[in-house]
Amino acid sequence: MLVDYHVHPDYSLDAKDSIDAFCKRALEIGLDEICFTTHYDLDPVRKEKEGFVRVKGELVSFDSNWLDHYLADLKRARAIYEKFGLNIKYGIEVDYSKEVEDEIKRSLHGYSFDLILGAIHNLDHNAIHLEEEFPTYFEGKSSRELCEKYFQEVQNAVRSEIFDVIAHIDLYKKFGLEYYGENLLKDCVDLAEKTFDLMIEKNVGLEINTSCYRYGFDEAFPSEDLLRRWKERNPKILTIGSDAHNIQYLAKYVPKWINIAKKMGLKFCTFKERKVEQYF
Ligand SMILES: [Zn+2]
Ligand SMILES: [Zn+2]
Repeated sequence: MLVDYHVHPDYSLDAKDSIDAFCKRALEIGLDEICFTTHYDLDPVRKEKEGFVRVKGELVSFDSNWLDHYLADLKRARAIYEKFGLNIKYGIEVDYSKEVEDEIKRSLHGYSFDLILGAIHNLDHNAIHLEEEFPTYFEGKSSRELCEKYFQEVQNAVRSEIFDVIAHIDLYKKFGLEYYGENLLKDCVDLAEKTFDLMIEKNVGLEINTSCYRYGFDEAFPSEDLLRRWKERNPKILTIGSDAHNIQYLAKYVPKWINIAKKMGLKFCTFKERKVEQYF
């Protein structure tokens, strides 16, 4: 089975291709299932710059009824492409911070998703995954301080019970590894393990995210080391996605990481209406 459970269509400002373009590409490369996970970020400080989404070519605020359009578009696509053997799942990638937890709950209430991905991109309103922002945030912080801050927020996200799966769990390594060196990974291990324990207790899954290759790494988010530590805990929920923002990257390195994880004895799952649908 071949799936991609982390895909950004052009609703996201930083993505290029339409839902239809992704579906056509998915059929070309033989995907069984695609789960669209457009960005949703309610950070009040970042709002003026990034609080928008593209609906039918127009930029509209995250405060609008854009989710109605997004889900209707996915429904339309599902009706078309399921005839060709492609399953389409309704997902979303939500930027979590404790500060907006209640607002996230309120704004998602009443909408039916198959999968809600939780992601920590911002710490104290700074995007740690953006080249132009990470240096000011890292400056003056030890690698341990960064790890503590990051995993505290991941743990808050897990406890919020909003999310089915946590995306790219070691995203801090994207710029942090070069900035702090290998110490960063050592400084994060115990915190990652504690977070894994909490995820398992709360029935929140882990994602293998293969976008890491686009940033010059020869591995995924998470590293094989962290993935092994996840496996030791006898986990139940694991998804995989490319985090493609254009069709060229759809399912890139996904087959490779399905193999790596399966060799470790892990199984992946698909979701339907926020529940595990099947294992493969
Ligand atoms: Zn993300
Ligand atoms: Zn993403």
